[in-house]
Amino acid sequence: MGRIAYVNGRYVPHGEAVVHIEDRGYQLADAVYEVWALFGGKLADPEGHFARLERSLGELSIAMPMSRAALTMVLKEAVRRNRVSEGSVYLQVSRGVAPRDHAFPNPEVRPAMVVTVSRVDRAASDARAAKGIAVVTTPENRWGRCDIKTVGLLPNALAKQKARAVGAVEAWFVDELGFVTEGASSNAWIVDGDGRLRTRDTNANILRGVTRHTLLDLIRNEGLEVDERPFTPADAVAAKEAFITGAGSLVLPVVAVDGKPVGDGKVGPLAMRLRRLYIEQAKAAAV
Ligand code: PLP
Repeated sequence: MGRIAYVNGRYVPHGEAVVHIEDRGYQLADAVYEVWALFGGKLADPEGHFARLERSLGELSIAMPMSRAALTMVLKEAVRRNRVSEGSVYLQVSRGVAPRDHAFPNPEVRPAMVVTVSRVDRAASDARAAKGIAVVTTPENRWGRCDIKTVGLLPNALAKQKARAVGAVEAWFVDELGFVTEGASSNAWIVDGDGRLRTRDTNANILRGVTRHTLLDLIRNEGLEVDERPFTPADAVAAKEAFITGAGSLVLPVVAVDGKPVGDGKVGPLAMRLRRLYIEQAKAAAV
């Protein structure tokens, strides 16, 4: 069965799913997106992703294209039509279609909305987690509003390609003070020499990862200590463990940074425990 996309009110085969050439998302990256992991065809961390979508849109003065309830129905219908159980659902909302002009269209136009659904091989992703991944570092060169989840992802795409070119899976951005901000499509964490978890605070110029947030709650419920404090690539190499989080990666152990082993170079037990905990909780709370 072929894939089905939702485009501005219609469910259409992927090959026929098109947007207007003057969609401001296409021309100006004037658009935001969200990605929900799917467990058993249900949306993981629904509340966190909807809340961040509303915030991203609000920061850019783009209207919600429909109510949260209607949006949930569209996302679930797209998932159903694609018959995907394990995977992800992608939502993109642009300011809409208007003759090209940097300033916002006046009067306002209707936001444009696209939904696609992808399948993932969870066994392959578990195998990747069991092996751990390598990351590379790259200078932070993104704009100052990485808290807004916009489709302006060219620096992220270039960083990811830099990783791919050397057989790594993720790239960590490093700011001018030498601290890791986050990954190209994930948040970055370490377990330091004292066994304390550490991840960058959200006052920094990073995306407020929904997976990060859920995991922080789980960590605190487990009675583990966590510092929302920056770390350097050297701290990561000297750490016991490192890992990344995101709707795509879930919790994924990192075993090397710029070719240097993290700790003993093996997948860490805490990262794997947190991966199991996160997946259990995400499955239980999915809608
Ligand atoms: N940071 C960046 C730059 C991302 O693109 C993502 C996810 O795509 C994340 C962090 C993780 O966010 P979440 O856990 O909400 O998927």
